[in-house]
Amino acid sequence: MLLSRIVKSCMDIILPHGCAVCGVRMPCEAHGRFCDRCRFGISHLVPPFCRICGVEVFGVGVHNPLCGECLENPPPYSIARSVVRYEPQVQQLVQKLKYGSELSVIPGLSELISSYDMEEFADIDFIVVVPLHLRRLRRRGLNQAAVLARLFFPDRLKLIKSDWLIRTRNTVPQTELGRTARKRNLRGAFQVRATSDFQGAGVCLVDDVFTTGTTIKECSKVIMKSGADEVKVLTLARVSARHRGMHL
Ligand SMILES: [Zn+2]
Ligand SMILES: [Zn+2]
Repeated sequence: MLLSRIVKSCMDIILPHGCAVCGVRMPCEAHGRFCDRCRFGISHLVPPFCRICGVEVFGVGVHNPLCGECLENPPPYSIARSVVRYEPQVQQLVQKLKYGSELSVIPGLSELISSYDMEEFADIDFIVVVPLHLRRLRRRGLNQAAVLARLFFPDRLKLIKSDWLIRTRNTVPQTELGRTARKRNLRGAFQVRATSDFQGAGVCLVDDVFTTGTTIKECSKVIMKSGADEVKVLTLARVSARHRGMHL
């Protein structure tokens, strides 16, 4: 332990670390992985949240709110939570991890994630990730959701079953589509592997970004159909859109 701390201090002197987002060199005595400018651009989600989908809601005196969307169409997951808003600095971090397979962003991601209170995920039995199609996985070299799952659950690595959920169709990236087309694009795209065992389990589904929720809904549906008791969704970031909270 002491030795690793000494090695780390020496490395910091020889190789001062750069900001995880913009790469600017930071002074050796700097704490954390982000320069002041980038840190300022990273914002955590602010309560109150919809008690199901976790979207930030507004409304006077709203206690335990529910957003209109969840009220009209209850999703197949029991809760969805995210750590930060999907704003430019976080977008850069995610893009670096996703398309560049840059593992240098991991300490920065880890810093963001370690500040998150995991209390609502204390009782889960298994952790799965939104899968990439095998062809895309080979091209990218890693599934960013699997990397994030390891950062969210460093002391529960054995519960991570990254191959229990599979993507059977190589779909068009959701970011290129509108809301209705997103749903159509993903229909039947996911399956549970025959050797998986979701029966009666509390499952945490991990992904990088919650955009419209179409992907996680589709995955949650498949997991629930295979016998899971509940699915709780956890994403690093969320495209921020405030909704009016309803008191129910
Ligand atoms: Zn920076
Ligand atoms: Zn909601």
